[in-house]
Amino acid sequence: MHPSTLRIMDELGLLDDFLLLPHSKIRPLAAEIDDRVLHLADFGRIPGRCNFVALMPQWDFLNFLAAKARRFPSLHVVMSCQATGLMEDPTTGDVIGLDATGSAGPFQIRADLVIGCDGRSSTIRACAGLAVETLGSPIDVLWFRLPRKDTDPTDILGHLGRGRMLVTIDRTDYWQCATVIAKGGIEKVRAAGIDAFRRSVAVSARFLSDRVDQLKSFDDIKLLSVMVDRLLNWSRPGVLCIGDAAHAMSPVGGVGINLAIQDAVATANILAAKLKSGTVRGIDLEAVQRRRLWPVRVIQRLQITIHNRVLGPVIGSAPPVLSVPLPLRVMDRYPALRRWPAQLLGVGVRSEHILSPCDNPDASPVSV
Ligand SMILES: Cc1cc2nc3c(=O)[nH]c(=O)nc-3n(C[C@H](O)[C@H](O)[C@H](O)COP(=O)(O)OP(=O)(O)OC[C@H]3O[C@@H](n4cnc5c(N)ncnc54)[C@H](O)[C@@H]3O)c2cc1C
Repeated sequence: MHPSTLRIMDELGLLDDFLLLPHSKIRPLAAEIDDRVLHLADFGRIPGRCNFVALMPQWDFLNFLAAKARRFPSLHVVMSCQATGLMEDPTTGDVIGLDATGSAGPFQIRADLVIGCDGRSSTIRACAGLAVETLGSPIDVLWFRLPRKDTDPTDILGHLGRGRMLVTIDRTDYWQCATVIAKGGIEKVRAAGIDAFRRSVAVSARFLSDRVDQLKSFDDIKLLSVMVDRLLNWSRPGVLCIGDAAHAMSPVGGVGINLAIQDAVATANILAAKLKSGTVRGIDLEAVQRRRLWPVRVIQRLQITIHNRVLGPVIGSAPPVLSVPLPLRVMDRYPALRRWPAQLLGVGVRSEHILSPCDNPDASPVSV
């Protein structure tokens, strides 16, 4: 959770409760290039209370939000169900609800608006027939856990070397680790064997070398496919896509969740009153895309640049000898400058704030 999301939680009056959930914090952020540690960003320099990145498993965050949202008596949360299709008005073709399936079998939900926030492989966007522009990605990610010790270094997130890149995310009682591999390169990694994989992890982050044998086989390592894409139109009458369903994000910068939340806030700001009065039109749905397209474009452009200029070459078949680019050396040398990368990553461009009406759920229920 970046500062932009923490601010949203604060504006909703949820921040204090949220921070009671187990989490770790990143303020200074460093990366290791070969054996040189570079200090690249400092979230602690962002003004205000929300000047850190909170790290926690996504399910804790989602369960927290669902529990808080259930205070609204008019909200009905249905878990363990899958959206399978869209219902359309046979005359106009407008979307008027969705088909779903759960433990009790298939059912339908009629709706003034269906919001597809079902991620990168969105069923809703496919069923709506919204055209996707693929922006490509030369990388995939291998995801695994290793035990954490209190003596481990905590503020070095990235470990880069010739032909290798490892990210270590502090989950307080274990390290969530991610190695970047070339797109489709999993078979090559498997063919080299688990020992070779363990060795590459130990070389990337030496402090892990005494526990890489905890990776017993490739069953302990999960392949996460990375894609970057964007819908040409995020909506058609009756249906709107937001988050990864509208624009799949790379893990670079760890910003995708935060952007998805910013989309949701913008959607509420633009549509809440119209939904309440039953006057949502296609043009209102397009306003959400107009509002959010620019920040999405900026961050995707940045991610693609980092894919193509840094990650692709570093893990490619002929990796170059790494040199530290000038901007990173400047950042490392002058601590005051480290606010700006933190600001770009943590707050982003065009940050959203809660403007939609939200009465006290205990006093006066509203539809969410
Ligand atoms: C390897 C990897 C690591 C990443 N790490 C980070 C990170 O550290 N920080 C960060 O901010 N971003 C990260 N990202 C990006 C981030 O995961 C996404 O940008 C973000 O999760 C998008 O949020 P979302 O709510 O739009 O979609 P998702 O988080 O994908 O949520 C979609 C939800 O919809 C549900 N769903 C899917 N289909 C259906 C259906 N048919 N019916 C009902 N429900 C359905 C899914 O179960 C899921 O709960 C990472 C991406 C990758 C690939």
